[in-house]
Amino acid sequence: MARQRTYDIRAVLLSGIAFVAICIAGGYVTKLSNDNFVQSQRIYLGSTARSQASDLERSLSLAFTSTQILAHQIEVDQGNTELFENYAENIMDSIGGIENIQLAPDGIIQFIYPLKGNENAIGLDVLNHPRYREAAQLAIREKTMIAVGPVKLVQGGIAVIGRTPIFIGGTDNAKFWGFASALILLDNLLADTGIRELEEEGYSVTLERNHTDTSEKSVFYESSTPINPKTAVQSDITLPTGTWTLIISLDVSDRIESRSHTLMLITVVIGVLTSLFLFLISIRPKQLEQEVQKKTKELQKLAYNDPLTGLPNRRYLNDLLPQYLSELQANNQSGAFIYFDLDNFKSINDSIGHDVGDRVLQEVARRLTNSIDENDLIIRLGGDEFAIILGDGSIDSIEDTAKEILSNIQKILRIEHREFKLSTSLGVSLFPQHSQNVLELMRFSDVALYEAKHRGKNQFILFTDAMQKKLMEHHQEELALAKAIKNHQLVLYFQPQFDLEVSKVIGAEALVRWIHPQKGLVFPDQFIPLAEQSGQILELGNYVIRKSFEYLRSRFDLGLPPILLHINLSSLQLSDLNLVPFVKEMIDLYKVPGHYIGFEITETTLLTDLEHAKKTLNGLKALGICIAIDDFGTGFSSLGQLKNLPVDLIKIDRSFVMDLENDPDDKMIVEAIIAMAHKLDTQVIAEGIESHGQLQMLRDFKCDLGQGYLISRPIPEAEFNRFDEDITPLLK
Ligand SMILES: [Mg+2]
Repeated sequence: MARQRTYDIRAVLLSGIAFVAICIAGGYVTKLSNDNFVQSQRIYLGSTARSQASDLERSLSLAFTSTQILAHQIEVDQGNTELFENYAENIMDSIGGIENIQLAPDGIIQFIYPLKGNENAIGLDVLNHPRYREAAQLAIREKTMIAVGPVKLVQGGIAVIGRTPIFIGGTDNAKFWGFASALILLDNLLADTGIRELEEEGYSVTLERNHTDTSEKSVFYESSTPINPKTAVQSDITLPTGTWTLIISLDVSDRIESRSHTLMLITVVIGVLTSLFLFLISIRPKQLEQEVQKKTKELQKLAYNDPLTGLPNRRYLNDLLPQYLSELQANNQSGAFIYFDLDNFKSINDSIGHDVGDRVLQEVARRLTNSIDENDLIIRLGGDEFAIILGDGSIDSIEDTAKEILSNIQKILRIEHREFKLSTSLGVSLFPQHSQNVLELMRFSDVALYEAKHRGKNQFILFTDAMQKKLMEHHQEELALAKAIKNHQLVLYFQPQFDLEVSKVIGAEALVRWIHPQKGLVFPDQFIPLAEQSGQILELGNYVIRKSFEYLRSRFDLGLPPILLHINLSSLQLSDLNLVPFVKEMIDLYKVPGHYIGFEITETTLLTDLEHAKKTLNGLKALGICIAIDDFGTGFSSLGQLKNLPVDLIKIDRSFVMDLENDPDDKMIVEAIIAMAHKLDTQVIAEGIESHGQLQMLRDFKCDLGQGYLISRPIPEAEFNRFDEDITPLLK
């Protein structure tokens, strides 16, 4: 959960940063866009201002020209003013924008066209009027037209006056006559240009006059809406004397605001979508990872837990216990590994059923859980095998726990109105003293358990170095045996088998001997159990079979009389699925027909898995192999049970033959076995014949074959090859 939260915070942060970054970028883009917009507006306004200024300039210039035309006419007429009205009318018709035209002889206004409404101006002495005097004198002095104003008119309104001085009488010494003036109303001037339309469209307009002397600016016209400095542009209008400045602006704040809103809205939408996308992308892999982790944990739980008892299982021991042990070791902790199984569990399972068996195991698991501390660990290894790992390695603590386990297991157990009394023995090894390796600990505990069972039930035994020494020796022996098989230190000895009726050797039993480099001749009872324990029995068995075929082949090659060679077969070999194919391979390899080979199988071997045994024996039989039942009479089988098996020969155990002369029971049994076997068309061989008396009795019972020290003990190959087929001399 903590990791999940960390991850979510990271995803939120990432999305948040992305959102803020996009908003900042959006703001910047909006500002750039607005600046561009204002700039483009200013460019447009600039061109508008220039065009309007040019219009104004042209209108003014034209209007001013009217005064020059009038001045020229008066000069031509030598100061005659009779035609003034005609001239004025013509001029005003051809040049628009002029309010009235005036003539001021000697600087005093005497003629105005049209006069109506302008009567007040008649008599105005321009040369002496404070408002006009200066400009008028400048015009005379410079002999040039001047522009006056804008000025507030006596008769109302704002006007610009163009005033041209008139000189009469030649060019050089001409005499000042007066002024020709035109009055141009500002309103009319503006109406003639497009400025009014611009104002209607929302533009603000201002006109300033620039004083040439003082460089002062005075505003003489402005729109009702003030100039917006952001977009304001200006253009100069050049007049005969001085300049005006036209300033135009447009208030774009509403449009900028609206554009900003739109752009920011788009930015926010993009920001939100991007952040959301990033957030989803960021948390998706984690979600998947969490799913995988969850499933992995479930699978691990399934894989590492025994479903019946809920305890950790053998896989847990293999996979996770090494890590657990190294953690304990890292903390300088010692502990114990207890290994055990239930002494009589198999009989419960077999006789009462697996359901009850399972419930017994569940109850045992529960009792074990009650016997240990929370730092300890119980593992069900399979079947009725358990391991307990104790986190406290002190001997006292181990003893206490072991005693409690033994006592808890022994308590009466009731399942389905039945009562059970279980017992166990515990094998204990210590870590790290004995080993830190799980498999070794298990092996040491197993050795200790074996010892505990050997000494009697319901006790626990701690593994000791002596046991370890024994184990090492055992291990050495195992290795030595493997080496012996590999290096052909195992050889076959042969004990002759003969026909009792004709006193002739007809075969032999092949018996394995270990010619040990140090110990000399070692008999099978000293190494067969080792081979069985270490799992080398199959290899050893196949080795004996191969050697037997090899021997028969050499016998044929030497031209010796053919014999039937009996080989002893262990139970593991009988249950080996490869036995029949292997024997067939040997038959083919050595070119020895199957009927020269016999296998001796003990009753107990046969009865372990009768169905499988039957199948294997039939397979061998099909290859021509002779099947003999070894040690007959010592097991629980009856001749009836053997009826369905492909048995050719029954070998009466030496224990019956041994006391044949003295024990009437044995005599009766042997006689009966032989008689019944014959009824089943099965031959009988007696082993362990050591005396003439025994031989004679067996002959009397019509026993078919014999084997024993009376004729020969098991002998090496070369000796057996020299052994005379006729044994009559040996029986004298
Ligand atoms: Mg035998």
